[in-house]
Amino acid sequence: MALVGIARLAAASELLEAKRAVEYFELPARSILNRTRPNMPFQWTINPYRGCEFGCKYCYARYTHEFMELDAVEFEDKIYAKQATAELLRQELARTGRKEHIALGTATDPYQPAERRFGRTRAILEVFARERGRFLGITTKSDLVLRDLDLLCEIARANVLGVNLTVTTLDEKLARLLEPRAPRPALRLETVRRLSAAGICVSVFPNPIMPGITDGERALDRLARAARDAGALSFGGGPLFLMPSAQKVFFPFLEKHFPDLAPKYKASFARSAYLSKAYKDALRERVQRIRDRYGLASGMIEYQPELWAGEEQGELFPLQ
Ligand code: SF4
Repeated sequence: MALVGIARLAAASELLEAKRAVEYFELPARSILNRTRPNMPFQWTINPYRGCEFGCKYCYARYTHEFMELDAVEFEDKIYAKQATAELLRQELARTGRKEHIALGTATDPYQPAERRFGRTRAILEVFARERGRFLGITTKSDLVLRDLDLLCEIARANVLGVNLTVTTLDEKLARLLEPRAPRPALRLETVRRLSAAGICVSVFPNPIMPGITDGERALDRLARAARDAGALSFGGGPLFLMPSAQKVFFPFLEKHFPDLAPKYKASFARSAYLSKAYKDALRERVQRIRDRYGLASGMIEYQPELWAGEEQGELFPLQ
């Protein structure tokens, strides 16, 4: 079968490095900002990599490797670093409205191990550090984000910036099973503490919340309290969703580690990638109750950046 589009580019990508079972490739990219569907909390996404070495068992983004004719497991082993991220971003930001929200790290972790070698996320932040009045959210599980604290502080002074640390559980053993190569939960909370101490607005995301595994009220309550104590200002809370590509990894994982839950999950996701409305409504109420208990917001904090007082001069009446 002839490969087209992204599959053809992936097949022709130059090998950057091969280590252990993980291979890194350089992927030519035509654009870096991707428009989201309507009704999302952000209008644009940026993912400097394709694939993610953290290998979370529930990862919904595995389907993105299928576009390259690769399978769901190769999502963890074949990592593609996009080319020319900074140059593309500079060009594309010029065509983007200032009030539009941009989310960095929606389909791969921007601070996965590849970032130490290839620095594509840092190159992107260097572009944002020269911007004014942008709305940027960064989501990660990694303490590597602290490497860029200087840039984050610079961005936060002239733009609205939020950093979201995903912490699904405080239980180290469970985290190791669910997220085998991601930093430990304690390290992520320490990252929240250090970002918050530096004046960055931080959220903790317990997403995806998994029925029977991480959705207990007491466990979520402990997590929200730890997030608040570390300095987080908001607490997310989205339920698991499992497309067929994610089911291929998650169902065998359940059979091995949670055999009693496996049939229930299979029945729940038999017809849809989403859990029932009744479950989602009950979970939303539970999470809101917990947020209220700790005075946590549900989303990004839209503060007034010190170096940006609003609409830029000349935007409505271009200078002659
Ligand atoms: S860190 Fe995020 S993108 Fe990476 S494997 Fe885990 S869920 Fe997927």
